[in-house]
Amino acid sequence: MRVADIVRRCSELGLEAIAITDHLNTADQLPLHAKIKAELKTLEAPLDIYFGVELNFDGPDGNFCFDEKIKQEYGFQFAIGGIHSSYGAKNITEVAEIHHQHHLKTCRNPLVDILVHPWWFWAGEFGEGKLPWPEDLSFVKERQVKELAKTALETNTAIEINAAIIFCDPPTSDKWVASYKQYLRELDSFGVTFAVGSDAHTIDKLKIIKHSWDLLGELGIPEERVWRPDCEPFVSALK
Ligand SMILES: [Zn+2]
Repeated sequence: MRVADIVRRCSELGLEAIAITDHLNTADQLPLHAKIKAELKTLEAPLDIYFGVELNFDGPDGNFCFDEKIKQEYGFQFAIGGIHSSYGAKNITEVAEIHHQHHLKTCRNPLVDILVHPWWFWAGEFGEGKLPWPEDLSFVKERQVKELAKTALETNTAIEINAAIIFCDPPTSDKWVASYKQYLRELDSFGVTFAVGSDAHTIDKLKIIKHSWDLLGELGIPEERVWRPDCEPFVSALK
């Protein structure tokens, strides 16, 4: 995905503001972000562009490869983060608790603005001969929903409505979508703030952001609870 192509496609899709948040799993990926930023600087963009980063835990009891110094040095305007492995969990109840604890830990990190894709599961750990894909979110306990909502509110962390994991990637199905919508409704009842993301890793996937936007409308999330960066865009749209 070249930066200029992302921007062109998002503009064709009618978007007015986007953020690029490539992965930062380990420090050796930092030069890639410097390259993205350099490309952004050369653009004359038809839409506002923010420069963020997606963080991942470096182990089951691990941390994010991120601190105030890296944030300043690379000029990241915000960070999104979350769990990307189930760390050897043996059944869905263990999976749920491991993910839940990492959701809370993500919210409590003062440098993270958005918790990404709750209940995203890595295909390398699920499927035939591995953990069975869940059919819906019935494995999520009421206590976990409440604790996440409370922690997100206390720490001022937004929760992502991720188009790919709800509507596109395994184990999606009508049942999964219905149950995920119910999960979002429960979070919404606590008054949390939501962020919208496509999770697009290819140009042709960018269009799925529409699903996340539509869901905001369907759930009736008020505009003041839709997350936006609290800074000026890194690149402002040409007037
Ligand atoms: Zn992710």
